[in-house]
Amino acid sequence: MTSSHSPLKPNAVIGIVGGGQLGRMSAIAAARLGFRTHILTTEANGPAAQVSHAVTCGKYDDPTALDAFASAVDVVTFEFENISADALDLLAKHCPVHPSGHILRISQDRLAEKTFFASAGIPLAPWHAVTDEKTLHEAAEKVGLPLILKTTRNGYDGKGQRRVHHIHDLEEAFNALAPHPLVAEGMVDFACEISVMVVRSADGTVRCFDPALNRHWNGILDLTLAPAPIDPSIAAQAVKLATTIAEKLELVGILGVEMFVDRTGNLLVNEMAPRPHNSGHWTMNACPQDQFDMHIRAVAGLPLPHAVRHSDAIMKNLVGPEDMALLPQIMASQGFIPHLYGKAEARVGRKMGHVNILFPYGALPGNLGIQDALGPLATKTAAPEPEED
Ligand code: AMP
Repeated sequence: MTSSHSPLKPNAVIGIVGGGQLGRMSAIAAARLGFRTHILTTEANGPAAQVSHAVTCGKYDDPTALDAFASAVDVVTFEFENISADALDLLAKHCPVHPSGHILRISQDRLAEKTFFASAGIPLAPWHAVTDEKTLHEAAEKVGLPLILKTTRNGYDGKGQRRVHHIHDLEEAFNALAPHPLVAEGMVDFACEISVMVVRSADGTVRCFDPALNRHWNGILDLTLAPAPIDPSIAAQAVKLATTIAEKLELVGILGVEMFVDRTGNLLVNEMAPRPHNSGHWTMNACPQDQFDMHIRAVAGLPLPHAVRHSDAIMKNLVGPEDMALLPQIMASQGFIPHLYGKAEARVGRKMGHVNILFPYGALPGNLGIQDALGPLATKTAAPEPEED
């Protein structure tokens, strides 16, 4: 157990690095809990800045901006992972930073992350580090085909990845991806993808929200179903894995863990994100305290209540101009709970908001019922998942 620290007082200032929707929803939760928020962002009027008390506009690696920001806040957290861990370490000289730069450093690098998971006994798909042609061919031998080659850094929403089905496509995929090194992963024939949001406070209390099932479209999260319709023993195992990860990292704050459930019911962890997560947005309406409340509580040193779910839920992302064109119908649909992010322009593939739809506890419908409940938003998800990138 790490040492506990005294909770932040009402009106204390929580600094949030990053100005996107996760920062926006964190800031709203912080305001609910009586705190002020100060955003460090490159975008003066972005989603988080719009709802915060103060903004420092500057680059995330600019020491002057970092200094100004750190001197104005009582604690720092972050909402995206593309800040350098060194910058977090710099901020940590002024005030506590949760989660720590150490955790960010691990999660920013797929190889460091896999090495950490392996050392913690977390089950993974077979993998191999790929630095050159020799290790590329070793990887194909070790993990087998088909495989996925991934860049180790800065990959998101399926970017920086190539699937390789035939040995003669291996080198082309290697050459197409940059920067190197890469990691090769055996392709998991998964039954479904799930995620667990786990929160840990400095006194060692760990809480997990129920595992949720995620469906992607064109590499972007499309739908989350909560709770994941999986065997309770698999759900319990998923919670156990997320707890182990949080404990081994000595996490303070929230972390999302993405996992595959394979065809035989085994869990394989894919990756983690030490921040609130898109796949946890269902908690905003299906839980008395959502992922953002829990994150802010942990960061502020407040007690962590149990992560209770009072309803079942579907979360549907609103992506790009196509989904935003449906706004009038969304607003007029009984039972749709919209959350919009305040982004000025609905570019293709851009997450603009999400909608939560609630069901009584234990009454999440099957696939047809889900299509029905989604009404005007059902079109994309009615089609099968894309096989290839
Ligand atoms: P990632 O960026 O690692 O989260 O990968 C994006 C998506 O690609 C995942 O949500 C999966 O749908 C798919 N994917 C990633 N790694 C694997 C794998 N080893 N086997 C099968 N599918 C994968």
